[in-house]
Amino acid sequence: MPSRKEFLKTMACLAAGAGLGLDVMARSNARPAPFHINRSGMGARMKMRFFPYELKLRHVFTVASYSRSTTPDIQVEIEYDGVTGYGEASMPPYLQHELGSPESVTAFLKKVQGIIGGFDDPFKLEEILARIDSLSDGDAAGKAAVDIALHDLAGKLLGAPWFRIWGLDKDKAPSTTFTIGIDKPEVVREKTRECAGRFNILKVKLGGEDDKRMIETIRSVTELPIAVDANQGWADRRQALDMILWLKDQGVMMVEQPMPKQRYDDMAWVTQHSPLPVFADEAVQRLADVPSMKGLYSGINIKLMKCTGMREAWKMLTLARALGMKVMVGCMTETSCACSAAAQLSPAVDFADLDGNLLIANDRFRGMEVVGGKITLPDRPGIGVELLEERK
Ligand SMILES: [Mg+2]
Repeated sequence: MPSRKEFLKTMACLAAGAGLGLDVMARSNARPAPFHINRSGMGARMKMRFFPYELKLRHVFTVASYSRSTTPDIQVEIEYDGVTGYGEASMPPYLQHELGSPESVTAFLKKVQGIIGGFDDPFKLEEILARIDSLSDGDAAGKAAVDIALHDLAGKLLGAPWFRIWGLDKDKAPSTTFTIGIDKPEVVREKTRECAGRFNILKVKLGGEDDKRMIETIRSVTELPIAVDANQGWADRRQALDMILWLKDQGVMMVEQPMPKQRYDDMAWVTQHSPLPVFADEAVQRLADVPSMKGLYSGINIKLMKCTGMREAWKMLTLARALGMKVMVGCMTETSCACSAAAQLSPAVDFADLDGNLLIANDRFRGMEVVGGKITLPDRPGIGVELLEERK
């Protein structure tokens, strides 16, 4: 039996090992010290600023109805005690009804500035972000910008990247898909050849007239796995399942949003019969949508711009897993800021589609990188980005 003296000695060693002094232990009823004690004294408040930043695309982006060479974006910065967190709102024109427009998000962020300025503790993420979410029904991209900046700030104050705070292993980050746009066969062949050496999985947007020809063109160049996004393009359950069965024989790994999102019964039937996992994208936006996806799809596509940011993305991932569903993480055309924020989640997902930063010519940040086709997360704290020189 150890004596009382030995016991006290052991406790002293344990306390020292844990970085505590015995005097601290004696005052165990005292309030614990905050993770970050601000240097400028009590009462420091957060400050938020934002400005428009037009993303210039490396290549003209063409979908069935139109072409574009820029994407409207707003950059957000939240400062606390000399530390700055970065965030952004990307608003591709065809999604502005869902994500918010540059005008609505600007008006929204003006309101948010007052709220952020009222807080002196950046770790009150739940309280701050719930208040901000309650300001409007929409403006998901504006909410995401604030959420990302606050997460970046909190991670920097803690000195840890979010993949670590969430308990994830960055070595488990998956390869990202890279999208081959629909084009003339010779252009598709050329682009596929270019990508085959840099990526481990390709993404193809289908849902048009020439779906099979597009896949055959890619297959004439490479045997790389393919992810397919039909963007609601197949009309009914028979067409969708026939295509999925054919695609499986072509080495396709998964299919995103095969039919219009309202076709609930058809979707449940297709998922039940599909040999490939089927993911909801247009059908799922936020956390509250996740339970109703069970049975209709095998998995969900989480995008920060539509789900209001990292806080809700993590909850969606957790809920989807609890429901036995698969998860993928995607993005819009974004700088490395929002892409790196989404990438923090990537070690926990089945598929990642994080190529948005590779599509723009004026990235303000260095962050996640694609090395040998795989998402590579830096060890920098927060969302892991550093600001590059302004390149507007
Ligand atoms: Mg999609």
